[in-house]
Amino acid sequence: MDKNFQEEQFTGIIKFTPPLYKQRYQFVKDLVGKYKPKKVADLGCADCTLLWMLKFCSCIEVLAGLDICTSIMKEKMHRLSPLPVDYLQPAERSLTVTLHHGSVAHKDPCMLGFDLVTCIELIEHLEESELKKFPEVVFGFMAPSIVVISTPNSEFNPLFPGVTLFRHPDHKFEWNRVQFQSWALETARRYDYSVEFTGVGHPPTGMENVGFCTQIGVFVRKHPQTSESAQSEKPTEGVYKTVTLFDKQMLKSKPMYVFLYVVKVFKAVYPSLKDEKYLQNAVVSEVIFTAQIIKRSLLDHVTSEHEEYNDDPTERKSKFQPSMNYFSDSLGKLVVEKSMEPFVNGHVVYIPLTTIFSFPKVNQLCGTFEKLCKLIAGKVTLSSDGSAVMFNTEHENEEN
Ligand code: SAH
Repeated sequence: MDKNFQEEQFTGIIKFTPPLYKQRYQFVKDLVGKYKPKKVADLGCADCTLLWMLKFCSCIEVLAGLDICTSIMKEKMHRLSPLPVDYLQPAERSLTVTLHHGSVAHKDPCMLGFDLVTCIELIEHLEESELKKFPEVVFGFMAPSIVVISTPNSEFNPLFPGVTLFRHPDHKFEWNRVQFQSWALETARRYDYSVEFTGVGHPPTGMENVGFCTQIGVFVRKHPQTSESAQSEKPTEGVYKTVTLFDKQMLKSKPMYVFLYVVKVFKAVYPSLKDEKYLQNAVVSEVIFTAQIIKRSLLDHVTSEHEEYNDDPTERKSKFQPSMNYFSDSLGKLVVEKSMEPFVNGHVVYIPLTTIFSFPKVNQLCGTFEKLCKLIAGKVTLSSDGSAVMFNTEHENEEN
């Protein structure tokens, strides 16, 4: 594809650092940083490199890619799957990544509801008939808040001696700045967007008049979303059938009647703390971890005082309650009432849930005390009244 041509074919003549494709992707990342879209669709996503970069943007909760060529999408799509670390430490945000096989010339409900639509080096690959339908699909039907379109600037081409007609054999056209800008301005006018022009890939000194190597239009919708484009928020009866690779049964039963414009080829749902199952795991681990630290501090304190006074261990409960300051500083604990302090009774250590809840991480994960109680119920050993985490330390040393 376009992204490597400077390096492969024309080394020594014009070389961009970073490579031009990276500059385009960085441009999109910066745009994401500026507008913080939650739902982003990349049309003509090819090998999904841009999608892969975008999955690290923490504001994004829905990422989708669409391309007319399945084989190129599948090449590296595994990179869009969650990693083991995503399960070990689920993120706060939810993230779903979907890939669709289809054309930007067709409207499909799966393309609705996006805040940002990116079309990087796509339009010059479209046939005339597809290019004609493209504005209605993207700006009329999808109608996201922001659309970014990049395409080669043909005025830069004379700086590439190897380029006779177009930069890539699959390009159907390459526009100069006036051609791109008049198309973009007309599209923006028709669909009520504003558009600003920029680019990446600076021309060499003395050749500034040719403009950027890649020209970019950033379109911003002037008015709030229409009801049609907001449809994806509600369950939609699809205009076209969208099937997953696993819907073979359906294909078997109605092979002749299903005409597929858009087919889902990949879907990954990332583990997230928004999912109760992952939240519960995280809370239980954090509660046990916090309680263990408190227990250790408490026992160390008890042991040192015990050694100091050489007193009767059965009297520990009343005598060895530590000051909260003992471990509050080191653990960054929030304020806790004195009456709720942890204590040792014989071999059993009691750590009130209110103490554990006052630790920032537990507090932040659960939000409310009631939620903490609900999430750990049945998962952590509690005192009979359910108010404290209980540890029996009797056999602890033996185990160690
Ligand atoms: N955006 C990528 C790839 C650009 S190449 C990048 O910046 O690297 C253009 C891509 O558009 C190709 O992967 C091609 O398969 C895809 N494409 C061409 N016509 C299309 C159409 N009608 N609908 C969707 N994708 C199309």
